[in-house]
Amino acid sequence: MTELLDFQESVVIGIDVGGTNLRVGLVDEHGDLLDSYIVGTQQTLGGSDPMRSLADMLQSFISQSVVGRYHLRAIAIGFPSMVDETRRKVIRTTFIEGLQNIDVVAGLNRFGVPVFIDRDVNMLLHYDAHRLHLPPKGVWLGCYVGTGMGFSLAFDGRILVGKHGVAGELGHIPGRTGLRCGCGNEGCIETKTAGNALVASLRERYGPDEPIEAVFVDHTDEPFIDEWLEYLAIGFSTAINMLDPTAILVGGGVPQMSGFPKRRLEEKIRRMARKPVPEADLHLTYLEQGPYDGVLGSALCAFEALNTQDSKVLVS
Ligand SMILES: [Zn+2]
Repeated sequence: MTELLDFQESVVIGIDVGGTNLRVGLVDEHGDLLDSYIVGTQQTLGGSDPMRSLADMLQSFISQSVVGRYHLRAIAIGFPSMVDETRRKVIRTTFIEGLQNIDVVAGLNRFGVPVFIDRDVNMLLHYDAHRLHLPPKGVWLGCYVGTGMGFSLAFDGRILVGKHGVAGELGHIPGRTGLRCGCGNEGCIETKTAGNALVASLRERYGPDEPIEAVFVDHTDEPFIDEWLEYLAIGFSTAINMLDPTAILVGGGVPQMSGFPKRRLEEKIRRMARKPVPEADLHLTYLEQGPYDGVLGSALCAFEALNTQDSKVLVS
C-alpha cells in the first residue's frame, strides 16, 4: 500500500472560510486547483459543534475526490479570525458565534495529516507575494478590503505572527470614529474603512435598494466617499510610516470595484506619509484576485510548511 501511495500525486486540501461562503479546494504541488466546492459558512460552522461538522464535510469530500486517486498530505485553513500563536486554535471570530476558542488541529486529527491554520489575510499575502515573485526582503504590507478590512505583514518573506498570534490587526487602531467595532472596542478605523461601512453609508443616504456595485461610479464625489478614503489612508499611512515597506499590496473585493478612486486614495496616503521618504517612493500594487485565491494561498502555505519539514513558514 505504501508503494502504491508513492505513485500517487501529492495534494493538499486548502480551505478559505469567508463571511458568506466556505470554499474547499484540492490543490497539487504546482498550485493547480484539481477539484473544489463551495458551501455556506453558517451552514457548516454555525452550529454547536463546528469542528465536527467541518470534519464530516471534509470526510465526504476526501472519500469522493481523494481516496484511491491522490496522496493527501495536509489540510490548511485560512480563518477570518484571531488565531493563536501556536497556529492550532481559533481564538475569536466576530461573525461566527460557534467559532470561538476552538482547537482546530485537534478537531481535524481524524485525518492523520498535518493541519495548518492561519489568518486568511496571512495566507493571501503569502500567496500574492509568491505569484508576484516579490523578493523576500524588507516589509510586505497586504491590505485586503472586503466586507471587513484585513491587514497582513511580512518581514523578509515571513509572516509576522506576534506574541499572541494577532500581529497586523491594523483595522483596529483607534480612529475616533465614534462607532462600536465588531471587536468590541469603540472607534477602530475598520468601522469606517471596511466594505460594510461603505455599504452602511450608502444605504443610510439612498435606501436599502441602492446598488453597492456602482458606488464609486454614481457617488464618487460625495463627502461620504471622501471620508471613507480618508480613514483608509490613515490605515495605510500608519503602517507605511512605521514600517517603510518594500511592497504595498492592495486587494479584496472593494478596490476591484468599477471606478475605485485609486488616484485619490494615493493622494491622501501621500499627504499623510512622512517626507521626503517613504512618500517620494510610494507604490501601491493593486491585485487582481479570484474567488479561490484564499484556497490556493492556504494550499501554498501547506506545501511550503511540508517541504521545510516543519511549520516555520507559518509560525515564524
Ligand atoms: Zn476593532
